[in-house]
Amino acid sequence: MASLVDRYLSHITTACTADRSGAVADYIPELAQVDPEGYGLSLCMHDGQIYSRGDSTVEFTIQSISKPLSYAMALNRLGYVRVDEKIGVEPSGEAFNEISVDDRMRPKNPMINAGAIQTVSLLLPPVRDVSAQTVGHVFDELVTFYSACAGRRLALDSAVYGSEASTGSRNRAIAYMLDSFGVMDTDPEAALDLYYRQCSLRVTTDDLAVIGATLANGGANPRTGRQVIAQEVAQRVLSVMTTCGMYDGAGDWVTSVGLPAKSGVGGGILATLPGQLGIGIYSPRLDRHGNSVRGIDTCRHLSTDLGLHMFNLN
Ligand code: GLU
Repeated sequence: MASLVDRYLSHITTACTADRSGAVADYIPELAQVDPEGYGLSLCMHDGQIYSRGDSTVEFTIQSISKPLSYAMALNRLGYVRVDEKIGVEPSGEAFNEISVDDRMRPKNPMINAGAIQTVSLLLPPVRDVSAQTVGHVFDELVTFYSACAGRRLALDSAVYGSEASTGSRNRAIAYMLDSFGVMDTDPEAALDLYYRQCSLRVTTDDLAVIGATLANGGANPRTGRQVIAQEVAQRVLSVMTTCGMYDGAGDWVTSVGLPAKSGVGGGILATLPGQLGIGIYSPRLDRHGNSVRGIDTCRHLSTDLGLHMFNLN
């Protein structure tokens, strides 16, 4: 079994790394510093076994792949009713940084920036002036949660964090818009700070595969055995990833690949096959939607070759 999987992963790596199209994200200066040729692929099975290829131990920033994790953390803590009052679950069909809300003034879903900033705001105390110390404390809790999902301690990339914070006008506009609509109950600057920090956590494809397998496993990390996400929360997170996870390319993704997934502008993709496995991919050149070009290609191959589409009826 192992050598069969290894041979297949070598084959797919060769097939997918030939493509040099797309461009590395440069709207955050620090993101442009990465090697555009980087490519890593990891699979984590439901028994915790990991198979990887290429740059699977190279660290890159998690970026928007943090969104489902913070959403899970908010749901774990506050329950559906309180979270649903503040964030919808409808696909937006818009770019990740679109300034948009639904008719109840809620961000349309937690996978776009407005929804993600709203999500972290729910983790902070409901006061207008949140101290840097409090943000630091909540961030520690967030890192502990993400780390429990990944099965190892994750760390902040301070250079990317600094770069995010100093170029974040668009996200600042989103946070203050939510504040002006009365949906944000905390200090918008604190929510932004927490959001920039979560985006700047470093992960590898092995980490993403384990996080994916944890979601696929109903919230139990298959390597540590710990139930880190409540089962019904994992189900909700996977549902929202399915309909909203791949930026404005979500419909095409569900039809052709058929795996709940989330991508980030750092070049990572996390995908899961519920009940079976987690997939982590890294390749930093992005398409016009902001998804990793080779990452998408790899997922298409995996889905087609291995029959992983979640609605596969064969
Ligand atoms: N830090 C990024 C931003 O908000 C995350 C973007 C992404 O990965 O989609 O601009």
